Amino acid sequence: MNFLNHEFKVLIGGKLTGSSTGETMNIVNPANGELVAKVPRCSIDDVNAAVAAAKAAFPKWKNTYIGDRAKLLFRLAAIIAEHEQELIPMETVQYGGPLSKTSNFDIPSAVGEIELMAGMGRGISGTTISADPNARVMTFREPYGVVGLITPWNFPLVTAVSKLGPALITGNTCVLKPPSCAPLTVLKLAEYCVEAGFPEGVVNVITGPGTEVGEAIVAHPDVAKINFTGDSKVGKRIMEIASQSVKPVASELGGKNAMIVLDDAELDAVIETAVYSAFFNSGQNCGSPSRFYVQEGIYDKFITRFVETAKRIKVGDPMDPETMMGPLAYMNCRKTAEQYIKSAKDAGFKLLLGERLPEYLQNGAYVMPHIFEITDNKHEFMQDEIFAPVVGVMKVKTAEEAVALVNDNKYGLCSSVWTRDYRKGLLMIDNLRTGTCWINQHLKIVPETPWGGCKESGWTKENSFMVYDEYTFQKHVWLELGDKPHTFWENMITL
Ligand code: NDP
Repeated sequence: MNFLNHEFKVLIGGKLTGSSTGETMNIVNPANGELVAKVPRCSIDDVNAAVAAAKAAFPKWKNTYIGDRAKLLFRLAAIIAEHEQELIPMETVQYGGPLSKTSNFDIPSAVGEIELMAGMGRGISGTTISADPNARVMTFREPYGVVGLITPWNFPLVTAVSKLGPALITGNTCVLKPPSCAPLTVLKLAEYCVEAGFPEGVVNVITGPGTEVGEAIVAHPDVAKINFTGDSKVGKRIMEIASQSVKPVASELGGKNAMIVLDDAELDAVIETAVYSAFFNSGQNCGSPSRFYVQEGIYDKFITRFVETAKRIKVGDPMDPETMMGPLAYMNCRKTAEQYIKSAKDAGFKLLLGERLPEYLQNGAYVMPHIFEITDNKHEFMQDEIFAPVVGVMKVKTAEEAVALVNDNKYGLCSSVWTRDYRKGLLMIDNLRTGTCWINQHLKIVPETPWGGCKESGWTKENSFMVYDEYTFQKHVWLELGDKPHTFWENMITL
């Protein structure tokens, strides 16, 4: 399947258009290397036009009644739902997420995410502060202005709307840049924004290389805030550029997530979740566990069943509804994964699972599920984010040892503890330095709950009521009620 008959356009100032230079970029199906679409390759001139349009649209949008902003978002959600059948295969062919994922998760979640963000966002409020009987003191939440939204490919549409929804309901205008390898569904979103009736310039969507148009968005003096999801190295580069103008950057970055399995864990539940969360979407989930610390009493049973179950994952064409694991997003991801597999073999780690790639999958960005038994937590295999279906299992003696090993990593996105003893689990999560800690669960991410890491995984929150903090700043307002305002000297004496 391809979309070569469809002319994908970017959205600048309310107009669907090509890039100003007329240049395009090729979108390739990672399952077979075939060309599936061409999209505009924007330039810095296009960034400047998009930011100018967003800046011009901001005052009116900010002063639009929040209920009317919500109505437009609900209309957008409805249009996405109407086009579900077109969007599902489009999402699949551009980044390899199997139909079972794109139909059950990506597109329905995008609809739900916008609806929740629009509905819940109507309840945002400021505060009042009882500081002085002669005054009334409060804080207002103000939108930043033009926000730059830069998104990754592993959940292309969901990640885009999870930023667009809260940005728009709080009164910001946006320049959204999707990933270059998988921008198709976000370009459809641009069309739907026009259809929904968003005023010109409120939503701008441009495509082009991150190192060029992404950096131009970040550096632009009229962009007030950046909200970025992606690799930690890219996040650091964005922060470096943004620091030149002290521009705030919300960042959801990489992870090297861990599952701790204690002797008293419910093994059936552990295995089901371990296999699902490690290999779902070929391990390309920010929250996927790729390190397993398993207590010695349950260790043998765990690895036997983990390997047996992972062996049954059906790897293949993502367009086949029976497929559980498709390819990685592009060939370089496969190369990176293969390098880490080689590095683990060279280190002498025992390969518990790692079948040869069948001949018929050789042309795609496929990597079969790999499980290694690891004996050195400091090895790059256990330290780096690989973002592939490639995981390590390590035997531990105690819960404390497991916690220390989890924390011995620069990332801090999420972790889970598996035990029937909730008291012990709660005491353990007190010491786990990750933004999310589950007990007897992993990869359960819903829009009502906050998502975000610590350390080099970033420090901000997506989803939940907390996300509105990323799109608003608090303005402090002081209303003096006294007969005459205090003079500076009177204040000094009072103090
Ligand atoms: P990248 O960081 O490579 O790309 C993300 C976005 O940033 C893309 O739109 C990309 O554009 C753009 N970009 C790249 N370089 C720059 C730059 N110098 N300046 C501005 N923008 C730039 O991430 P991936 O797309 O590879 O996504 C995978 C990563 O995302 C993993 O590390 C994963 O952990 C992380 N992630 C984190 C999540 C979280 O919640 N913490 C959720 C999902 C993913 P282009 O495509 O053109 O290069």
